[in-house]
Amino acid sequence: MSTIEIRKVTKRFGDFTAVRDADLSVAAGEVVCLLGPSGCGKTTTLRMIAGLERATSGDVVIAGRNMNELPPEKRDIAMVFQFYALYPALSVGQNIAMPLHYEKLSKAEVDARVIKVAKIMHLTEVLDRMPSHISEGEKQRLAVARAIVRDPNCFLFDEPLSRLDVELRHSMRGQIKEVLTGLSKATVIVTHDQLEALTMANRIAIMRDGLIEQVGTPHDVFAKPANVFVASFIGTPQMNLVDADLKSFDGKNASVSLAGNDLVIAADPAVSRLKPSKVTVGIRPRAFTAANEKAADTIAAQAELIEPMGAETLIHARTAAGGDIRVVVPRDKRVKIGEALHLRPDPKQTHFFGEDGKAVRA
Ligand code: ATP
Repeated sequence: MSTIEIRKVTKRFGDFTAVRDADLSVAAGEVVCLLGPSGCGKTTTLRMIAGLERATSGDVVIAGRNMNELPPEKRDIAMVFQFYALYPALSVGQNIAMPLHYEKLSKAEVDARVIKVAKIMHLTEVLDRMPSHISEGEKQRLAVARAIVRDPNCFLFDEPLSRLDVELRHSMRGQIKEVLTGLSKATVIVTHDQLEALTMANRIAIMRDGLIEQVGTPHDVFAKPANVFVASFIGTPQMNLVDADLKSFDGKNASVSLAGNDLVIAADPAVSRLKPSKVTVGIRPRAFTAANEKAADTIAAQAELIEPMGAETLIHARTAAGGDIRVVVPRDKRVKIGEALHLRPDPKQTHFFGEDGKAVRA
């Protein structure tokens, strides 16, 4: 069974801990993206799974077998790197066939596999061409074709699309996802591009400073971020994270002093755990509606900067306390600089985080 599991995996380089106590399981047929800012330990984690880096402690288990002592070539993994090294003197077809070199297959079997994979990756038309005579997108598909031509335990991709332009990336995301869906293999993809992770992954593991902060479906990490970091990292424009004083909570409504406003807002019953305290309130820029006048459930702010984003407009609004609140409205909603806004946050999309930065949720 194609599965990947890492258990309490730590990697230290001298005094520096690049990955700390990472736990992750990837099921057969599942695509998990490791997502996080530069230097958070994504590639190191992937390299430990591949055996290119030895874990300082913890276990790497692939297809049910502990791999700690096995070198990369014995782990039976197919990897696709950001810089896919193609053999320039071999044709596309020969490049695809290369990984089959060590398998004792007849020429007819090799040809059949190459033709099958070329068809899946839409490379049939260019099989006889040399890598220098194919497009960037075709080179990328060739790199994936080489990985899937064998029947490995699992797939690992390191920033596979980062060299492609925006349009090509968009189409390749879909194509790779479609191919992976048909293969029933455990797959880990490293990316720092949240759109890539949100569209390609079944689950996303979000990392920061060597720690896995949250593992969840694309929907969960967006709609139920576990902490302030995940809330700020996922979603564009970024979620508003506003310091607030929680004054009281009656089991249904929370009274908070937020951005110079006294606000009453329906909140998750778990907010009762917070007691009156400093909290962070998270509201996505698309989770506001505009009210005509001040009310108990609105935040007063003044439009300061207006950024057209195509179908929508991003407004930076200044609150009474001097903070910035980002609000996204449809393009046809005209807002002028200096206009007074009364922003009503949708309680269902309003998140409370405790002083430790963790989300408070039932
Ligand atoms: P990026 O998106 O920039 O590739 P990343 O999340 O993949 O970042 P890693 O490459 O895993 O990050 O690196 C994690 C941390 O470990 C970084 O601070 C990096 O400088 C450090 N690091 C990685 N490899 C080594 C090494 N061989 N020796 C010392 N430090 C290293």
